[in-house]
Amino acid sequence: MKDAVNSDAGVGSEPVADAGAGGGPSDVLPRLALETPESTEFGQGWVSGLISAVTGLAALGTVLCFHFPGATVAEIRSYYPVELIRALIHLFLFVSFVLGSVSICLRRNKTLGLIGIGSTIVATLLGGSAVEISGDIQETFLGLDWVILDLILYSAVYIPLERLFALHPGQPAFRKEWTTDVTYFFLNGLLIQVIGLLTIKPAMLFFDWARLDAIVTTVSGLPLPIQVLLCVLLADLTQYWIHRAYHQIPALWRFHAIHHSAEVMDWMAGARLHFVDAVSTRCLTYIPLFLAGFSEAAIASYLVIVIIQATFIHANVRWEFRLIQKWIATPCFHHWHHAAESQAIDRNFAVHTPIWDRLFGTCYLPGRWPYSYGLCGERDVPSGWIGQFLYPLFRRSRKSPARADSN
Ligand SMILES: [Zn+2]
Ligand SMILES: [Zn+2]
Repeated sequence: MKDAVNSDAGVGSEPVADAGAGGGPSDVLPRLALETPESTEFGQGWVSGLISAVTGLAALGTVLCFHFPGATVAEIRSYYPVELIRALIHLFLFVSFVLGSVSICLRRNKTLGLIGIGSTIVATLLGGSAVEISGDIQETFLGLDWVILDLILYSAVYIPLERLFALHPGQPAFRKEWTTDVTYFFLNGLLIQVIGLLTIKPAMLFFDWARLDAIVTTVSGLPLPIQVLLCVLLADLTQYWIHRAYHQIPALWRFHAIHHSAEVMDWMAGARLHFVDAVSTRCLTYIPLFLAGFSEAAIASYLVIVIIQATFIHANVRWEFRLIQKWIATPCFHHWHHAAESQAIDRNFAVHTPIWDRLFGTCYLPGRWPYSYGLCGERDVPSGWIGQFLYPLFRRSRKSPARADSN
């Protein structure tokens, strides 16, 4: 439907101005729903409240995993060091209670502290660090443990990162529609096993006949670093065209519009993907990897790279990585994919490397950061998870005037 590349958006466009942490971000601030800056400064009870809420919820979730072991990921269940986990529950309960009390004393808004202390009390009533693993395992194909690991790791990495190196320093952690993205975050983790099965099984069921022994033997015999590099490049090439199709075919765009409806960029915004969009993209991306015959270690390494990079490129960090931005997808590269500026529509489709966008004429790196994010002109995407899930199923296929004009 569209293959136009703006004259200033050519292959491997060079930065034209040093917007970095300067003009671009500050220009965006008036567009964001700002919290008063004082309210999250150190010493105001916000940091202690946040740590209390995260550790309290993590402790409560972990205790629930002991009560419902069938709600954990079967493949990794046997590897957990149970005694170490008990010690961590103990530590988290202590930290959550102490910092929750500090937050409640310091802060007028008690929500975070109360979430932390409330979770601590419930987790303790359910057994705390002395909780026993329930007898029979009733498999549920849920990933409660995956949610908790995500919560701990992402919070530990991105909360300080986005606070210290924010592209939009005034952007509150609990910004507009954060509850919607938290819902996506928790559901993505909870359904990790279901999504995994829907990703892998179709390739195994329908394309086993197409695997050639000569290719599989050659590829799986390559050194692991070479396999991982080829795996990332091949997956990104496939994903590039699937992603481009999702932008350019109206019936698909209404599913993908959900991802682009986020008007704020941070690590949590990357979780906003319609279930159909997420599963179909992963399923189709996996087929060539299956046919090539990459080893399990290579696929596992690729998955780690996906998890890290797909989150990082959405983060609210001001690093530009100018030396490598033409070769590796960076936050600036993907922020432009989400930009609500007409010249950036249908650009920067890749997740891992701009090589494919440069090759196919869709790379856009103008040397500054976008002024705003979201859909150009499409105002009817609902803000809640349920509304967004139903939206593509009942909406007529059409594009906004801005997107239609770009075709
Ligand atoms: Zn997109
Ligand atoms: Zn994105």
